Amino acid sequence: MSASAEQKMQFLFALRSKGVTDTRTLNAMETIDRGPFVRDGLFSNRAYEDMPLPIACGQTISQPSVVGLMTQALDVQPRDKVLEVGTGSGYQAAILSHLARRVYTVERHRRLIREAQAQFDRLGLTNVTAIMADGSHGLPDQAPFDRILVTAAAEDAPGPLLAQLREGGIMVLPVGQSDAVQSLIKVTRQADGFDYEELRAVRFVPLVEGLGQD
Ligand code: SAH
Repeated sequence: MSASAEQKMQFLFALRSKGVTDTRTLNAMETIDRGPFVRDGLFSNRAYEDMPLPIACGQTISQPSVVGLMTQALDVQPRDKVLEVGTGSGYQAAILSHLARRVYTVERHRRLIREAQAQFDRLGLTNVTAIMADGSHGLPDQAPFDRILVTAAAEDAPGPLLAQLREGGIMVLPVGQSDAVQSLIKVTRQADGFDYEELRAVRFVPLVEGLGQD
């Protein structure tokens, strides 16, 4: 299923009304159709509503306005190498791939990696690579990164991710207890340390250590 003209208009309207105003972010979200990333037949008719939806392995595809706000806060530049932690459906990674030079996305469930990679192949996105790994350790082989986006909540910014952020780089992530409301924060690496900015309240699935069973 793909979006009708009216669904597309409402989808973009919802993004703008929730504060997604950055043109490049809106363009990328207009280009990448969310429908095919919502595979569960029960929910495919809700793909263009501004709500999170269940995907395989007990995980969720994030709410579009949250994807938009995180993407715009990340301020991705065309030459950037980006790390995403928590591939899930692959939707966020596909959007990042439109904005960045190179995207690495890591996920602890093999099934989600396989399905996300199939979506990237279908869309001909050749600058995004999905890797099965525990993203709380980052991706040392490819570090440092210009931008890091974490789409699962840890209690605090994981040390290895801070270490893999380039000077001048930005990381956006939800922090807080997994069963409570969390804060979305933006971390900027300066020459002499890190700046922290709190953006808004969010709710994400937890960042879990180790690899999944499926
Ligand atoms: N960005 C996704 C939504 C992610 S939901 C999308 O666009 O659809 C969060 C994902 O983080 C889940 O798929 C979960 O399995 C994954 N995750 C949780 N802990 C992780 C870890 N330590 N390493 C990698 N992925 C993790």
